[in-house]
Amino acid sequence: MSGQALIIHYSQRAEDCPPCRITLRLDTSAAFCKTPRRVKQSIVTLDMEGVLTPEIWIAVADKTGIPELRRTTRDEPDYDKLMRGRLAILDQHGLKLSDIQNVIGTLNPLPGGREFLDELRSFVQVIILSDTFEQFASPLLRQLGQPTLLCHRLMVENDRITDYQLRLREQKREAVVAFKRMNYHVISGGDSFNDIAMLTEAHEGILFRAPDNVKQQFPEFPAVEAYADFMGLIKQAMG
Ligand SMILES: [Mg+2]
Repeated sequence: MSGQALIIHYSQRAEDCPPCRITLRLDTSAAFCKTPRRVKQSIVTLDMEGVLTPEIWIAVADKTGIPELRRTTRDEPDYDKLMRGRLAILDQHGLKLSDIQNVIGTLNPLPGGREFLDELRSFVQVIILSDTFEQFASPLLRQLGQPTLLCHRLMVENDRITDYQLRLREQKREAVVAFKRMNYHVISGGDSFNDIAMLTEAHEGILFRAPDNVKQQFPEFPAVEAYADFMGLIKQAMG
């Protein structure tokens, strides 16, 4: 070993650095490792409502004075049941798509939400995964600096919302599965029941401002309330 350095690589797992393992096994007296340290390539998926923006349906309930519309995925885990109920209520009250869009046009991101997202996007790719609809999201996306959003679409006839179309069932989870297949290290954040499959599938799942019933039911996820703490956990998860 005189005059030579033995470099101990960062990992003992052969699949992380096969060339190094082979070199070390064959000739430990001349193990000059030239292989660069393999860095995890991360991607962050975030829920939108409750994480970056207010809950759209709660705002609609407040503006229209229809308290039944306050139910969200935080209250009803069955999304189809929740949406069917919402559409029936809109019909009963004669509310059209444009009425809801007018309400959404008055909403702003949560205080600090835009700044949090801007900082996050400055060092990692971020995809918003939401169960909202294209027709609802655009005014909020503009205020968030046009991040990439994957969501669903409403069926509309003469301004009446007749139905909704899920582009894909369990789209949040499926997106994480796809990113993992593309060899990304996936970090996900959400606040509600409809995020749990995404958080479970991700390498790292984080609850942000989740209600107590969600936190109690899923204690396996770290739960934070402040954007600074959320940012800290994401950076930690990126390694
Ligand atoms: Mg949410």
